[in-house]
Amino acid sequence: MIRALGALAVVAIALTLASPAAAQSARWRVFPETGFTVADGARGRFLSAFEAHGGVAALGYPASRPFVWEGFTAQVFQRAILQWRPERAEVAFVNVFDRLHAAGLDDELHARRQVPRPVAFADAGLTWEEAAALRLKVLDQDPAIRRAYHATAGDPIALHGLPVSPIVDMGNHLAVRCQRAVFQKWKVDVPWARAGDVTVALGGDIAKEFGALPDLAALQPDVAVAVPSRAPRIVLDPGHGGAEPGAVSAQPPLIEKEVVLAISLAVAEELRAAGYAVTLTRESDRAVNIDRRDLNGDGWVDVDDDLQARVDVANEAAADVFLSIHGNGGPPHLRGGAVYYCASCPGTEHRQFSLRIRDALSAVLPTLGAGLFGSGLFDEADLGKPYGHLFVIGPKTPRVARANRATAQALVEVLFLSNRTDAAILATSTGRTAIARAISRAIQEHRPR
Ligand SMILES: [Zn+2]
Repeated sequence: MIRALGALAVVAIALTLASPAAAQSARWRVFPETGFTVADGARGRFLSAFEAHGGVAALGYPASRPFVWEGFTAQVFQRAILQWRPERAEVAFVNVFDRLHAAGLDDELHARRQVPRPVAFADAGLTWEEAAALRLKVLDQDPAIRRAYHATAGDPIALHGLPVSPIVDMGNHLAVRCQRAVFQKWKVDVPWARAGDVTVALGGDIAKEFGALPDLAALQPDVAVAVPSRAPRIVLDPGHGGAEPGAVSAQPPLIEKEVVLAISLAVAEELRAAGYAVTLTRESDRAVNIDRRDLNGDGWVDVDDDLQARVDVANEAAADVFLSIHGNGGPPHLRGGAVYYCASCPGTEHRQFSLRIRDALSAVLPTLGAGLFGSGLFDEADLGKPYGHLFVIGPKTPRVARANRATAQALVEVLFLSNRTDAAILATSTGRTAIARAISRAIQEHRPR
């Protein structure tokens, strides 16, 4: 096994920072979520590396102070352990699961966390590129796991390392072990995921749990953990679904229900990787009121009941944050993103949350060649108009028997499917991923009062 990893171990996966001048200035950022500080200073440029590699979305929150490990200063993050290499003035990623293997913990990892055991790959004599390609091929066994591996805010190989096991059937889930992460695709609903979801076991947290880190004092937070320490509960609502397509584009051919589901799933994946509890009102192409029940009690079953079902999902999940994700439709010349909130609804965070989403979109849309539609923020004081889907963030009305109780609610129209240029952006994975990341970061930056 050690031999099998040899071809890969010689290649240090390092992150070169653009500006050596950054070493001169001490900078730091305190993370009240976990109570740790990340800094650029005498012990290494951990903050620059953290930011350059995608921040919380990619690495999770810091989970230790800097400490000395095997002669180098290291710092644990939830998803990865970074090591400062002063001779190269770079940060390298520690191969957490290889270290656990070297510490003889494979059986314990298998028993307690259902982590597959590493296997030998026939990569003798191969170049690094060939060996890497051979290992990445493992992921082709399961498209959902493959997608999850590649859906990161940073370079997936740098972040997760390469697969060191095949995809293994662990009973209630499929799992693949990589050098720095384990991916698990659930076959059944479990408390933290639904059937079909792929979750990532966080390398930094597992190294802590298995006592693989030498300096216990470094695991004590250096500031008080923020109260409430609980992360906000998030409900994402991909608009439409099933018999309700939403807006459509003929060229490129796009259907709103599919575009917004893909974006919502990508947002959920980013948020879950950062440790958030996320519920989606739907995770496949279907209505939410799937049993066609008269949920608002008005005597018949129509689209209002499907909207009520979405609100009910949010209330059952005790959502702090609710975001409904749509694509727009209208005359062909209209373009851009828009965010809506309900000004007349109880709660004080709707506007603040909507502004965050708007700011995030206004930062990313120009890089894609799009912009904001109108002011980009619609203050919907009166929801008694034809925009039916806005009822999910609306007040109680005859059409809505139970209003949404999330303290921060917004509805985003990512772009216009009815505009060719906007639709072309939504047709690309680059466009969808950029929009999903912007939304995910805006949600993470929102702090409930
Ligand atoms: Zn829509």
